[in-house]
Amino acid sequence: MTLSLPTTPPREAAPAFDQEKTGLGNYFIANYPPFSFWTKEALPEALAVLQCPPKPDVRLGLYLHIPFCRKRCKFCYFRVYTDKNAREVETYLNALLKEVELYSQAPLIAGRPLDFVYFGGGTPSYLSAAQLHELFDGVKRRLRWEQPREVTFEAEPGTVQREKLVALKELGVTRLSLGVENFSDRILEENGRAHRSPEIFRVYEWAREIGFAQINVDLIAGMVGETWENWRDCIRKTADLQPDSITIYQMELPFNTVYSKEMLQAGQGTHEGIASWPTKRAWVAYAYETLIPLGYDVSSGYTLVRRSSQAKFIYRDELWHGADLIGTGVASFGHLQGVHVQNVDQWDVYLQRLDEGQWPLNRAFRMDAEDALIREMILQLKTGSLDLDYFQQKYQTAVADRFREAWSHLEAERCLERAPDRYRLTREGLMQVDRLLPRFFAEKYQTTRYT
Ligand code: SF4
Repeated sequence: MTLSLPTTPPREAAPAFDQEKTGLGNYFIANYPPFSFWTKEALPEALAVLQCPPKPDVRLGLYLHIPFCRKRCKFCYFRVYTDKNAREVETYLNALLKEVELYSQAPLIAGRPLDFVYFGGGTPSYLSAAQLHELFDGVKRRLRWEQPREVTFEAEPGTVQREKLVALKELGVTRLSLGVENFSDRILEENGRAHRSPEIFRVYEWAREIGFAQINVDLIAGMVGETWENWRDCIRKTADLQPDSITIYQMELPFNTVYSKEMLQAGQGTHEGIASWPTKRAWVAYAYETLIPLGYDVSSGYTLVRRSSQAKFIYRDELWHGADLIGTGVASFGHLQGVHVQNVDQWDVYLQRLDEGQWPLNRAFRMDAEDALIREMILQLKTGSLDLDYFQQKYQTAVADRFREAWSHLEAERCLERAPDRYRLTREGLMQVDRLLPRFFAEKYQTTRYT
């Protein structure tokens, strides 16, 4: 599971930006304009752009959605399945390769080298080593794979054996992202996670020994049952492992999670086991304050990187600078030269469309220049630092002037520091960056419904 760039976001949810308690709704801003403005009517735009030649200098990435998990975590809002048998998994992987094939034949994609690849979920490590070989080989046969700069693979510790990691390394994975989330077995169990802490340490040791270029550890601040004492312990154990990067998300409660349903049934406005937003921000701030003196640098409002490892997150950085992304798999999201696309989110429909040789697209949105500018600006702001000249060069826009009022408010709230060529979020601003972003949305996209 990677929450940083969800490709299967919640389907029905509304923002909860101003609530101090963790209420129902989305907090995380994954894209712009909001998903609720993407439509079926815009699909011809997507089909048309696929027939165009690519613009020069736009990098290309590939996302593959593996929607299988051993158990459904109680906070999970992704499109995942816990009940598929081996034959159904094979059928899905075949459909995924058919989709890759369709893209490989489209003039927009044909012949372009893959710059970055992301296996996300769900749980990509749910697949067997043999299935992984088939999937990687199938992709490599269809698209130009000349060792992309980054190949990320998400792994759930309880699904990993040593041989699987060896296979992944051989297949070209450069960035292994471990869904640790917490080190307390009590909290892992309460939140419905399938793995336990001994599996984390075992997998981490194998991964280091096998020599992945980068190991990322994912944590969640604010899982049900979290306490200050346990959180400090989690950060200490994370620091002891010395991963190349650490990603920390703040627990949110979109509508279709187990916890959200429990709350609704109980007629409550929040889940009593989930901390308030100020507490979660304090937990993330504590992690930053502890890890930075131990040799980590801030890479975004969610990510720290170990200085000595010079770790990067190419998938994130390229997407946030306008790269193209082929999004494959049920409910996946992609971005094609200014057109957002999302696949159908029903298993049967996805398989049937590909069986018939049809695109499995469900909705799309063509951005204009203003949309593209705002999208890049708010996404890059999540890194905590905005290069003003970049927007002048790329969009001929002085974003300092264009959004003058919003910057002034951020400064007054002690969330922003300004230099002539760069705006930086303060630590306080960075810890709550997602709730700051809607103020930059165009008026027509100011909405209570993000997805
Ligand atoms: S591991 Fe849990 S959070 Fe991640 S996709 Fe599966 S069910 Fe969702």
